[in-house]
Amino acid sequence: MDIVVNVAMSADGKLSSRRREQIKISGPEDFDRVDRIRREVDAVVVGIGTVLADDPHLTLDDPERQQQRRENGRPPNPARVVVDSRGRTPPDGRICDDAAPTYVVVSSAAPDERREALAEAGVELIVAGEERVDLPTAFDALEAAGINSLLVEGGGELIFSVIEDGVIDRLTVFVGSLVIGGRDAPTLADGEGFVEDFPALSLTAVDRVDDGVVLSYVVGE
Ligand code: NAP
Repeated sequence: MDIVVNVAMSADGKLSSRRREQIKISGPEDFDRVDRIRREVDAVVVGIGTVLADDPHLTLDDPERQQQRRENGRPPNPARVVVDSRGRTPPDGRICDDAAPTYVVVSSAAPDERREALAEAGVELIVAGEERVDLPTAFDALEAAGINSLLVEGGGELIFSVIEDGVIDRLTVFVGSLVIGGRDAPTLADGEGFVEDFPALSLTAVDRVDDGVVLSYVVGE
């Protein structure tokens, strides 16, 4: 399984403000870059925090890219995956529409009525973990369903976990020219944080995009 994380953050490392509302951090060139990454992957993954905050759709913007996928024998959009221990994904959210298959990964703690509501909305449920989603188990289940490449788009809690679990291969970050600030604003990697054995990254490229830069890393030394 190939796993890449991509996010846009402010110059001070924030993904959005303390209100957790979506903020325009990048511009058209970067949206296009993200669309190109989405074209290549089998599925796009977000945490439930992002679904509740942003109501994302996670499909391709460019119809030509959808056509290119069709010509390669692939569905026009990558599948969508929500990491959501308790099944809080709204069945009427944009992520559950019929533009692409949607997988919601819940834990064993997800209430039956939430599972039923999601199944009725046509969502594929995967159970991984007891109280919280166990990501390696979830990703193995996705692989068994034929998904071999993932783009993780955030937010900060989920990104911390994929780094902590050692399941990420590459990281690309758009760094925008603005300051968001706020000790409670989400950052690139939230979670508990590391106090030792800090995961190392190897910088592979620095590109000027829009009014910012894209930093590309492979994970590991
Ligand atoms: P998140 O990372 O999207 O979702 C975190 C939630 O996922 C957790 O609270 C947890 O909720 C669930 N989860 C289940 N298993 C998990 C596991 N093993 N590891 C981590 N999380 C797990 O939420 P967030 O950190 O609050 O980020 C949302 C914010 O980021 C929003 O403000 C959004 O606008 C912003 N965002 C920005 C960008 C960008 O590129 N700038 C991209 C995406 C999001 P349960 O316990 O209920 O399951």
